[in-house]
Amino acid sequence: MFTINENFLRLNENYLFTTVAEKIKQFSSEHPDANIIRLGIGDVTLPLPPAVIKALHKAVDEMAVKETFRGYGPERGYDFLLEKIAENDYRAHGIDISTDEIFVSDGAKSDTGNIVDILGENNMVGITDPVYPVYLDSNIMRIKERSITNSKIVFLPCHPENNFLPEIPKKRVDVIYLCYPNNPTGTVMKRDELKRWVIYALENKSLILFDAAYEAYVTEDDVPHSIFEIEGAKSCAIEFRSYSKNAGFTGLRCSYTVVPKELKTKASNGTYVSLNQLWLRRQSTKFNGTAYIIQRAAEAVYSPEGKEEVKGLVNYYLENAKTIREGLQEKGWTVYGGVNSPYIWLKCPDTNDSWQFFDRLLNERHIVGTPGVGFGPSGEGYFRLTAFNSHEKTREAIERIKKWEI
Ligand code: PLP
Repeated sequence: MFTINENFLRLNENYLFTTVAEKIKQFSSEHPDANIIRLGIGDVTLPLPPAVIKALHKAVDEMAVKETFRGYGPERGYDFLLEKIAENDYRAHGIDISTDEIFVSDGAKSDTGNIVDILGENNMVGITDPVYPVYLDSNIMRIKERSITNSKIVFLPCHPENNFLPEIPKKRVDVIYLCYPNNPTGTVMKRDELKRWVIYALENKSLILFDAAYEAYVTEDDVPHSIFEIEGAKSCAIEFRSYSKNAGFTGLRCSYTVVPKELKTKASNGTYVSLNQLWLRRQSTKFNGTAYIIQRAAEAVYSPEGKEEVKGLVNYYLENAKTIREGLQEKGWTVYGGVNSPYIWLKCPDTNDSWQFFDRLLNERHIVGTPGVGFGPSGEGYFRLTAFNSHEKTREAIERIKKWEI
C-alpha cells in the first residue's frame, strides 16, 4: 500500500476560516433575517482599479491575434513588469535591486509556503505567535518525523508587553519569518527594530523571510516599506510582496519575491550557494509562470493612473481601519494596529476566550471577526477585525458595538 506524507496529519484539522464559515452558516440558517456584517476574512471587497481592467482587456485582445499571442513566459516574469518593480518599488526609494533578483509569482501565499523547498530540514525556524498560518503549516508539512513540540520550530510570543514584536531569541534561529505590517496584529516594526534583526541575522548567518504583503498600508515615516532599506539585508533576507491587498488582486493572483544575488550560504560540500539560483531552479521546475494578461495587469499598477487608483483603494480601507480603531477606543476597549495596516487587533473586553467572544459578537451584534487564538496560542484573548468592508457597513458595525452592553 502506498503511504502519505504523515506530516499532513499533524496539521490542525480545521483551517481557521473553515470553522468561522461553518459557524456563520449555522447562525444564518437559524436567523435567516439577521443582517450579518463581515469584518473577518482578510479579502478585499472593492473592484479592480480601472487602469488594471484596461490593461487586462488589452492583453486579452493581444492573445487573440497570432502576431501578439504569447505562450509560456520567461521564468522570472516578463521584463516589462520586472523593470517596473525594480524602478518603482526599489530604485525610486534608493534601494538597488536588479531585475534578475525579482521573481514574479501567483501569490505571496504560494511563495511564503514554497520557500521551504530550498531550505534545509535541520534549520531552527523562528515563527512569531500569533502568526499568518502559512509559515507554520508549510514547515509542519515538511519537517521529517518530528512533532512540532520537540521540533525545530521556535515560537516567538508577541504580546502588548513587547509591542507585539518578537524578542531576539536566546536559542539561535537559522530562519526567521517576519511579517510587517503584521497579519494578524496590525502592528509594525520600526526601522531601528528591524535593523536589530538584520544585525542578528548577519551575525548568526541566519535568514530572514520578510513578508511585506501589507507594505502599501505603511503611513508612518519611521516604518520601513522594505527590509532592503536596512543596510546588510541583501545578504540575509528574502522579501515577499503582493498585489493582493494594495491593488485588489486577491482573485487575479500576482505577487513577487526578491531573492538578492548577495544572499548565499555554505552547502555541506563547503561551497557557497546562491539562493537566487536555487529559487530559480525551484520555480522553473515546479511553476510555469504567472499569466501574461495578469502580468500586464500588474504592470498597470505602476502607471500614473494606476498609482492614483491604488492609493485610493488603500486609503479607503485605511479610513475603515480608523473608524474601527477610534470607535472601539471610544468604547474603552484596548486596540492595536489599524494605523499602518488594514487589521485591528483588540483585547476581548469580557473574556479570555476568543472563540467565546466570536460567538457573542455574532449572536448579539451579528458581526463576524476572527478569534485571535486561531493565529496561535498567544492570540488567545484577542480578536482580529479587518478594514475590508464598505464604509457604511464598517460604521454600522461600530455603532452596533458602541450600543452593546457588554
Ligand atoms: N502574507 C500575508 C501576511 C497575508 O496576510 C496574505 C493574505 O492574506 C498573504 C501573504 C497572501 O497573499 P497573496 O494573495 O499574494 O497570496
